[in-house]
Amino acid sequence: MGFRMPDISLPEHALMIGGKAEAGGTGEAFAHIYPASGETTREIRLASAADVDRAVAAAKAAQAAWRAMPGDKRRDLMLKLASAIEERAAEMSPLLTAENGSILLAGPHMSADAAQKFRYFGGWADKLEGRTVPTWGGPAHDYVSYEPYGTIGVIVPWNGPLFAATMVMAPALAAGNCLVLKAPETAPWSLMKLMELVQRAGFPPGVVNLVTGGPDVGAAMVEHPGIDKIEFIGSGATARKILGSAAPALKPVGLELGGKSAVLVFADADLQAAAKRGLSGGVSANGQGCVNGTRLLVERTIYEPYVQMLGAMAGHIKVGDPFAMDTVMGPVISETALERIHGLVKRGAAEGGRVVCGGERMGGDHAGGTFYPLTILADVAPGSEIARHEVFGPVLVVTPFDSEEEAVALANGTDYGLGAYVHTTNLARAHRVAGQMMAGQVQVNGSGEAMTPCVPFGGMKHSGHGRLGGIEGLREFQQVRNVWINLQ
Ligand code: NAD
Repeated sequence: MGFRMPDISLPEHALMIGGKAEAGGTGEAFAHIYPASGETTREIRLASAADVDRAVAAAKAAQAAWRAMPGDKRRDLMLKLASAIEERAAEMSPLLTAENGSILLAGPHMSADAAQKFRYFGGWADKLEGRTVPTWGGPAHDYVSYEPYGTIGVIVPWNGPLFAATMVMAPALAAGNCLVLKAPETAPWSLMKLMELVQRAGFPPGVVNLVTGGPDVGAAMVEHPGIDKIEFIGSGATARKILGSAAPALKPVGLELGGKSAVLVFADADLQAAAKRGLSGGVSANGQGCVNGTRLLVERTIYEPYVQMLGAMAGHIKVGDPFAMDTVMGPVISETALERIHGLVKRGAAEGGRVVCGGERMGGDHAGGTFYPLTILADVAPGSEIARHEVFGPVLVVTPFDSEEEAVALANGTDYGLGAYVHTTNLARAHRVAGQMMAGQVQVNGSGEAMTPCVPFGGMKHSGHGRLGGIEGLREFQQVRNVWINLQ
């Protein structure tokens, strides 16, 4: 039976095109499942390629005026949207839980984060200056201006649609682009709600358009000649397909992909804090966070006490009804995901991993929902499948190391390069090790605090390219024009 969803009001409109909310698209019907109970929340009529056409046309129609709007006016609209998100946070929180089983406790933080992004990038919208370049050769005046692309297609995953979409929307809008945004059909409610707030803030029709749909709708966006750049947040497997279909039109694609982020725990670390933070990599976003630290590398002299500490702390993690305020971890997204996670755990144990806790699907009250407990595998060989592949579930693997050099080599020893976490009280070591991490974001004695709109976030290697957040995030949605004027 699992944990039934309380009676909450779900947003009615699966599409917003040209400023008009539409109940559904002209694509197939989709029954959205609430993962804590397996019940259908509501059937949605998804978008089709024809709806994508209309959304792109609406964005194109809005483009010239949006681009020409003075930056202070764009800023004010973005600040209004930030306020609307803050004012409606209490309505947004249950939708975040209903769409993918994320815990209600995290809801206010997610709304605050979304609002902060529109405030931060709204602050850039009236400061989009160019620069002049001292020229070589004869007398000339040379300047550089930063221009919007036009229409950005935004494709996001189900694990944090509001988080991912606003990471793109805020800088792209500040830079003067219009948007066609796809809400994932498996987690649609928060973005449908966000569209109500976009309308409330008074954005001109067509500047932000929403289509709700699955892979076919995403594919139609990638192939659409009217979309000037795709920003994709999701898995490497899908990214490969997108790059293939974007190739004929030479369409630029920004990629924010998965990770297998290392957590390096040195013997001089504050062990208690490092264990608490280490554990959060298995728990945060119900273990389904792209940048979660899921690969714990621990100096051998403290290895066993650290593993014991992790196991003891794991016993206190309450897994259950995501709507209950004392729940720390909710379900994973689907039966398919649960089976995949469990398969990886079983094979990890068969390859020599010691199961410290978890390892079996939760039954009893939890049966009916897709609940998997926090699972810790110790003594995991660095070359094994579970040490190299993203599990995207509440699973931590632990491996010992003997020297700083070995720790760095192990940390860099996967195809991924999204995050890295270093735990040490030795300042020189902190800088030395951080400087060698092949990861887009390194946190020293932290576990997620760096994820604010003002810092660049993104991956190296198979974790993607391009950055969202900070001035680097703004530049992703600007093209550079250089103008040279002969003064002779
Ligand atoms: P996914 O790649 O299956 O789907 C992501 C999105 O792409 C969905 O909206 C889906 O409908 C769409 N899509 C699927 N096939 C498509 C196609 N052929 N063309 C266009 N669009 C298509 O990923 P997921 O399972 O939804 O999300 C989990 C993955 O996302 C994990 O790997 C996770 O690490 C990653 N992720 C990365 C970040 C980041 O910022 N780096 C953030 C969150 C999640």
